[in-house]
Amino acid sequence: MIEASDVKKYYPVKNTLFSRTGRYVKALDGVSLSIDKGVIHSLVGETGSGKSTFGRIVMALTSPTAGIVKIDGVDLFSLKKKDLKSMRKRIQIIFQDPYSSLNPKLKIRASITEPLKLNHIEYDEKKIAAVVESVGLKPAEDYLDRFPGELSGGQRQRTAIARAFAISPELIVADEPVSMVDVSIRADFLNLLKETNRKENLTVLLITHDLFVASYISDRISVLYLGKIVEESDKNGIVGHPLHPYTQALLDSIPVLGEGEREVNIKGEIPNPIDIPPGCRFHPRCPFVMDKCRQVEPEFREIETGHFVSCHLY
Ligand code: SF4
Repeated sequence: MIEASDVKKYYPVKNTLFSRTGRYVKALDGVSLSIDKGVIHSLVGETGSGKSTFGRIVMALTSPTAGIVKIDGVDLFSLKKKDLKSMRKRIQIIFQDPYSSLNPKLKIRASITEPLKLNHIEYDEKKIAAVVESVGLKPAEDYLDRFPGELSGGQRQRTAIARAFAISPELIVADEPVSMVDVSIRADFLNLLKETNRKENLTVLLITHDLFVASYISDRISVLYLGKIVEESDKNGIVGHPLHPYTQALLDSIPVLGEGEREVNIKGEIPNPIDIPPGCRFHPRCPFVMDKCRQVEPEFREIETGHFVSCHLY
C-alpha cells in the first residue's frame, strides 16, 4: 500500500532569519520502505532518527526534498489538491499527545463527527455511538456530551482513535500513540489497533521509539538510525535474531518484568543530523567498529530471506 523510494528530507540551516549556511539538517537521508496492505509495520528509532518526519510525509503534511512516496501506486506528491483531499480520506493519523490532538472546545460527539462532515460522509447517531463504543468508551451516551477536559488521558486517546476510525480509513499512521498513556492501558490500545487491523484489513504504520511496543503488535519492523533504515525484517527476525548492533542495543533496553524502564545502552548520544558521521553512521557508537566502518558506508543487503541489514559485519 505504501512504497517509499529513497526519501530525503533536508532542512537548510540558517544563520539569521534570512541567510542560509549551505548546511542541512538531514532528517531523512534516503529511506526506502514498502508496506503491504493489511500489515502492521513499525518504524522504530530514538528521538532524532527521523521517524516522525517520515510519518508526516506519508500523511502529505510535508513534502520530501527528494524521493517518491506512492500510496496504492499513486505518487502522493504529484496529486492535484482535489485528489490529495480524497486520498487523505483514506489515511488518518493518531498523534502521541491525547491532550493536544482534540479540540478542548468540542464535545466528544463533535470531535467524532467533524471528520465525517469534512469528508461528506453520511452518519447517524447509531454510527457515532458504535464508533465510540468500538474503542471501549461504553456506554457511548456517557461520553458523547463531555468535553476532552472531562476525560482521563486514556479516554482522550481512545477518543482520538475513535475520531481516526470514524471515516473507516485504509491506513493509520500512529505516531507514538501510547507513549503518553498510562502503562497499565497501553496493551489495550495496541490490542485495539491489532483487532481493527485484522477485522478491517487496516494497514498501520506505527512510529515508536519503543521496540517492545513494536514487537507487541507488528508484522514487520524497520529500525531507523539517523535518517536511514539500518535493519528490516519480520517481527521474529528483529526480536529473535537481530543483526545490527543498534537493534541489539535497542533490544537490550527493553525492560525486564519488575525492573521498570531501562536506558538505551549505547555509548554517546545520537549525532547531530547536520554532521552525519562518514562511513557507517553508527560507527562512533558501535562496540564492533572496524577501520572500514569509518570510511565506507555499508550497503543495505538481504542477509536472510526477508531480513535486511546495513552493517560490514555481514
Ligand atoms: Fe558497527 Fe561497522 Fe556494523 Fe556500523 S558497519 S554497525 S560500525 S560493525
